[in-house]
Amino acid sequence: MTGLGSSARKPAGVAGAVDEGRLWTRHMDMARHGALARGGVNRPALSAEDGRARRLMADWARALGCAVFTDPVGNLFVRREGTEAGLAPVLTGSHLDTQPTGGKFDGSYGVLAGLEAIEAMNDAGISTHRPVEVVAWTNEEGSRFQPGCLGSCVFAGRTGADEALAVRDRDGIAAHDALAAIRAGEPDFLVRPVGFDVHAYVEAHIEQGPLLEKARVPVGIVTGIQGTRWFAIEVLGEEAHAGTMPRRHRKDAFVAAVAMVGALDRLMHDEDDVVRFTIGRFEVSPGSPNTVPGRVFFTIDFRHPDAHTLKRLGDQVQAVCRAHAGPCQVGIEETFHALPCAFDPMVVDTVRATVRDLGFPAMELPSGANHDAKFLAEICPTAMIFVPCERGISHNEAESASPSDLAAGAQVLAETLVRLANA
Ligand SMILES: [Zn+2]
Repeated sequence: MTGLGSSARKPAGVAGAVDEGRLWTRHMDMARHGALARGGVNRPALSAEDGRARRLMADWARALGCAVFTDPVGNLFVRREGTEAGLAPVLTGSHLDTQPTGGKFDGSYGVLAGLEAIEAMNDAGISTHRPVEVVAWTNEEGSRFQPGCLGSCVFAGRTGADEALAVRDRDGIAAHDALAAIRAGEPDFLVRPVGFDVHAYVEAHIEQGPLLEKARVPVGIVTGIQGTRWFAIEVLGEEAHAGTMPRRHRKDAFVAAVAMVGALDRLMHDEDDVVRFTIGRFEVSPGSPNTVPGRVFFTIDFRHPDAHTLKRLGDQVQAVCRAHAGPCQVGIEETFHALPCAFDPMVVDTVRATVRDLGFPAMELPSGANHDAKFLAEICPTAMIFVPCERGISHNEAESASPSDLAAGAQVLAETLVRLANA
């Protein structure tokens, strides 16, 4: 893809020491662990490939003079010391696990941009009052162990480590056993207790959507993470012979469900195209060509960055479904509800000022996807920095980003970290 982040003049300070080629090469090296034939990566959380990725990260960090730590849920931290003892660190990072057919940039970018920021601080001879730490959170994706964001949830105190690690993958392997297998190869990592005071957290990530690329800007200033509501809808009619039962006497669950979907689609329509509304599963039973369907099950994934709109539209789902049930029964269950999260004004302002001072075109946007930053935001001032990815495609082997955009985001990250660590 065409890079939007190229700038004619080299900025001063830490941003000027960010090395585009080095950052790109590290992505390619990291992507060897779990590499797939079509260019993607399959690196399940706490797998052998994940272990090798962690080792690579630790080796790079040690070469930069950083100490390497882990904690009881396997979060991996690398630390560049500050000049004043006892101050809480500024933390940055993301995750190294991937989807089964994931790309080279989702997660890895945030970790590698953090490492690049540390190397740029070294190269520019910049010291900071506070320590700067880079973290790779355990099991963000949630594709091997559910739920996702396991490491950041435990760090934020939402769940205990033992409880979180009791979950098992599809083969029955418990997360704590998978972690133990990896940790056997990491005797040199110092072990910390779970959680510590964090001065501020900044996560860099590819956007995983098309907005930055369409706006032709290399950097996104992320203002928060939109809220999510999930619903499970069950429509119950009555099975009947397709040849003998007149339509007016049927209780056709499919016909009722289609009417509901049409009405929901109208409810969720907004001129600004901000509402995210998805029916990702739709099951018709018994699924026979000559039987009137007696049951339909479908799911709704509804997201919006504004809490009021999330409530107003989400609260109408039940009434809309009931109004279009016809002769059928309908059951509506809300299976997940997460409020939107607004990032911390101080950290967002620091990112904004940095972007302006470095002269990058940028736009402000909420994150459409969930990230570890959502849980960090519960315990410390938090924000995110996005860079474009090609055609907005992610969770896909074809996921791609331009070296200059990745470098632009890393410049913003590095300068932001230095400002926060000297504040
Ligand atoms: Zn990610």
